[in-house]
Amino acid sequence: MNFLSNNNIKILKGVGEKRRVLFEKLGVFSIKDLIYYFPRSYNDMTSIYSINNAPLNTNCCIKAIPSSKIIEKRLRKNVTIYKTIVSDHSGSLTLTAFNNKFLFQKLKFNAPFYFFGKIKLNKFSKKEMVAPTIFSTDEISNIMPIYKSTENLSSKQIETTIKQVLANFSETIEDSLPNYIKEKYNLCDLKFALKNIHFPENLDFLKRAKLRLLFEELLILQLSLAVLKQKNKTNTNFKIIKNYSSEFYKLLPFKPTNSQLNAINSCLKDMHSGKSMRRLIQGDVGSGKTMVAAAVAYNAIRENLQVAFMVPTEILAEQHFSYLKNLFKNMSINVELISSSTPKKLKRRIKDNLLLDNINLIVGTHALISDDIEFSNLGLVITDEQHRFGVNQRKKLFEKGNNPHIIVMSATPIPRSLAMVMYKDLDISIINELPAGRKKIDTFLIDSSKRERAINFIIKAIDEGNQAYVVCPLVDENDELELSSAKKTFNILCEKLQPKYKIGLLHGKMLSIEKNLIMSKFINKEIDILVSTTVIEVGIDNKNATIMMIENAERLGLSQLHQLRGRVGRGNLKSYCILVSDSKNKESINRLNIIKNSNDGFFIANEDLKYRGPGDFFGIRQHGLPLLKCHKFLDDINILNTVK
Ligand code: ADP
Ligand code: MG
Repeated sequence: MNFLSNNNIKILKGVGEKRRVLFEKLGVFSIKDLIYYFPRSYNDMTSIYSINNAPLNTNCCIKAIPSSKIIEKRLRKNVTIYKTIVSDHSGSLTLTAFNNKFLFQKLKFNAPFYFFGKIKLNKFSKKEMVAPTIFSTDEISNIMPIYKSTENLSSKQIETTIKQVLANFSETIEDSLPNYIKEKYNLCDLKFALKNIHFPENLDFLKRAKLRLLFEELLILQLSLAVLKQKNKTNTNFKIIKNYSSEFYKLLPFKPTNSQLNAINSCLKDMHSGKSMRRLIQGDVGSGKTMVAAAVAYNAIRENLQVAFMVPTEILAEQHFSYLKNLFKNMSINVELISSSTPKKLKRRIKDNLLLDNINLIVGTHALISDDIEFSNLGLVITDEQHRFGVNQRKKLFEKGNNPHIIVMSATPIPRSLAMVMYKDLDISIINELPAGRKKIDTFLIDSSKRERAINFIIKAIDEGNQAYVVCPLVDENDELELSSAKKTFNILCEKLQPKYKIGLLHGKMLSIEKNLIMSKFINKEIDILVSTTVIEVGIDNKNATIMMIENAERLGLSQLHQLRGRVGRGNLKSYCILVSDSKNKESINRLNIIKNSNDGFFIANEDLKYRGPGDFFGIRQHGLPLLKCHKFLDDINILNTVK
């Protein structure tokens, strides 16, 4: 495998500098990365439909013969459409492509081709397939991989490159699992698994491939957690002697819930024991985890320990920072913030002060784990939204101290069965109550024909003094599109509602200074409706926001939707979530109904796991391990329990 990980994909035929850069965008650097760049889904070509029998509005494959010339029509500047007609014994179908004049080039009259895509009825009630994937008879196989692509690098091109690698280099793939394990658990060998995860001969082989790769993935995670476990057993220098919590509670404008008190007390007990703490705090969105972290941090700081608080996004870092700074403002506690957009000069000063022990609490993004950040006395490490980080990232922060105490916090509750496998080395506190006075969030599912009414509903709430979010998620696997959809919604709302109502736009591509400005305007009620991409998904806290409207809701995972919904209903105001979706896909509608009918994060996480596989729970994506979607196999939790 060394050969594969040491060699850049540039040694491959057909991969020049241009393509290398495109692959890099997808996180693919070495040949090994490429082999482990698994399909995001598969097109099942095992059923081929005739045109008249093909289902509408779902992906399917038909076999037909081109029966007309290609017609080119310029709609407006930069938009040209291409149309052609194909037929079989049962009927005919129009194929359409936007701006892609090459799509139909390979078609030949009087030869059959396979067309994969969604058939819709156009405004003349004629059948039409937009942007089909086209295969000639010698290109087709039963199950075709679909890769996450990027501009100028199509799934097909990725497929061809991977095919080349497997054809030329599969001899150098070494199996990392010893034979006795493979035999014991009836696992296929790695070569077979890699070949069949990309180009499955049949569905059964695909399943075996997933099983094998998931097994290995879990095993690696187990091993990396074991690293922490070993350190677990050592004693710590950072024993907390006294309990300072009553001082801390005086700083709060509310009474902690019993769950919060229990979580805090468990942490203090851990830190008092002389052994280092390893604790996972799980609590549904809005249950008040930040305060728990603050309380424990306060105790550590009063014993002269330094505390690092790592969060996944800049907006969240900024929010926690200002919350904590404000909370501790009369306490001679020095709180600092560090992120990738911290100016160089300030960063240097922060670095010096960390080493000189002049900073008690530092809040930061991934910037916290960069090599040049060092502490004088790091005694407690807290990671918020821990599932957003990889094992290695957490480990890196941990290693900046001399066996510090660890808290990881998560609002994505891990289903119990998995928690037992994955986190058996951690103690777990569960915050299972929301602060008193919270009202249930009502969730509606509408299609876009009702959007107008939903906007009127939002306006009514604003007239009553509240605020709203409108989130526009990915409309494609492409950030640019996500951005353009948010901008479009923003423009539409501006045109309609300004100047009476103030609309703001927030997205990940903005400079952090701009983001902070928008966020603080929103918090200060200078913005009524915040239109945003999914950057606001984690952690944002504005009690006055009571409506969350989510466009294209079917594009998001269940846990993500639950997180987004958790942005409202954070105070005592009755709140609403409006899911907008025109999807006709049965599975999507089922998923959205799960959100509509449940507010229980644990239940939702369990369902999410079934649909998506475990990637998001463990941050597999973040530390470079492949994200698998093996939900079928995951239903059989017994298999997971074998990886111990
Ligand atoms: P999460 O668990 O999602 O991270 P936060 O820590 O952001 O939740 O808390 C959500 C909101 O609830 C915050 O505005 C916080 O100040 C408030 N809050 C936390 N604990 C309590 C409490 N015991 N009583 C009332 N409000 C609380
Ligand atoms: Mg939070």
